[in-house]
Amino acid sequence: MHYKLTEEILNLSESKEWDFAKLEWSFEFAYYAEELQKCLCGHYPIKNICVIKNRRNSSVTEVGNCCINKFLGIDEGNKIFISIKKLKDSETASMSSEVIEYIYKKKGISDFEYNFYKSIYRKRIMSDKQWDIKKRINQKFLNFTSYETNSHFNKINLVLKWAQTNITFNTDFVQSIKKSCQKNGRLTEKQLESLNKIISAFKIQ
Ligand SMILES: [Zn+2]
Repeated sequence: MHYKLTEEILNLSESKEWDFAKLEWSFEFAYYAEELQKCLCGHYPIKNICVIKNRRNSSVTEVGNCCINKFLGIDEGNKIFISIKKLKDSETASMSSEVIEYIYKKKGISDFEYNFYKSIYRKRIMSDKQWDIKKRINQKFLNFTSYETNSHFNKINLVLKWAQTNITFNTDFVQSIKKSCQKNGRLTEKQLESLNKIISAFKIQ
């Protein structure tokens, strides 16, 4: 058993017995990191990152996919990482049916895109327009699973960097959620929502 990982997970769990604590956790999201990240267990570098959530106290944390396979028995991320790799190799490839269901359920694609993708699923002969739509949906999936676009820390740092050249912006709020993110590993839904509002209101890129 990996001591560091189990210790970190136990800290965030209700039960203090590992065999029960691990059952409190379920899969939330899978992200692929271009920039090298460090796992909760200390493994470095990792690229396939899963966000897992505690069903009892709603804590959220990020763990390398290899570790959640091995220590928590959560394997939902595997199929997603296979599709990410496939689509990175070829923009016209198809994500797996499970992955289409996943991204739709997480509201990463619209009803139209979901129905379209299913309707062309096994097709090799399509119009240019259909290929374009398929490629667009594939790209949307890659963006949706990009750690760089989704990481809470990345968003916070983006705003703070922008604020350096926009000195009238008061950074107190962003600094305070940065502290809370460091403490909890993630922002709360509400904090993330506020942060996203700032990013879109000031058109920060
Ligand atoms: Zn790990």
